[in-house]
Amino acid sequence: MTGERKRRPALRRAAFLIWIGVVGVGAYQALFHPETPLPRHWNPAAPLVVSDPVTPLTGWKLRRTAGDPMACLAALDDAVEARMLPPLVVDVNCGIGTRVRLTQVGQSGIAPIETDCSTALRLSMWEQHGLRPAARDHLGTDLSEIRQIGSYNCRRIRTPGGGSGRWSTHATAEAIDITGFAFSDGSSLSLLQDWSGEGPGAAFLRAARDSACTWFVTTLGPDFNRLHADHFHLQARGWGRCS
Ligand SMILES: [Zn+2]
Repeated sequence: MTGERKRRPALRRAAFLIWIGVVGVGAYQALFHPETPLPRHWNPAAPLVVSDPVTPLTGWKLRRTAGDPMACLAALDDAVEARMLPPLVVDVNCGIGTRVRLTQVGQSGIAPIETDCSTALRLSMWEQHGLRPAARDHLGTDLSEIRQIGSYNCRRIRTPGGGSGRWSTHATAEAIDITGFAFSDGSSLSLLQDWSGEGPGAAFLRAARDSACTWFVTTLGPDFNRLHADHFHLQARGWGRCS
């Protein structure tokens, strides 16, 4: 009886270790086997692909990808039209680390702009998963253009009371300012003119703001302060504000 009691915990330990081993091998195969049945968008080991469906893993994959220059450029490759440029080195506060010249975001045009890869990648996620569905839902048309007024700008943060000591994320092109949108039916919307309305245009702009909060780290728009009455300020890093 005593010997049997001693053997049982040992057997249980052995069975537990075998179980851990089987689960471990299974998990490794599911994540890394080239023919894994686990879909890419559910696989944390698989790279981010902008056009993949959104899952609870997507935000984490985006943060990981945006923070890794090589992975970011690879993800951007089939999501946008962009040319890779050498880093812009200005000084300790200003410059563009992973610098690209963007000329198209997904299906949508954009006036050519130099920005950081992390900004371009978040913009392409917003276009694919926020703006295009919102245009179809609220306006029954397709997004054709994202209107921007700049990304890189070597300057400090502006406040309604004047200047601020801190450097803006524009100083490293980790932000972009968006003033409006155009659509394939020939219509267009601007934040300055259409934000306060009641119709489908205003509903689209509010949906655009809400989804920007999903795909950027910080989103500031007309509801934030008067300096943002005419644009969304979208940041690829920062303190996580959405307004
Ligand atoms: Zn801005």
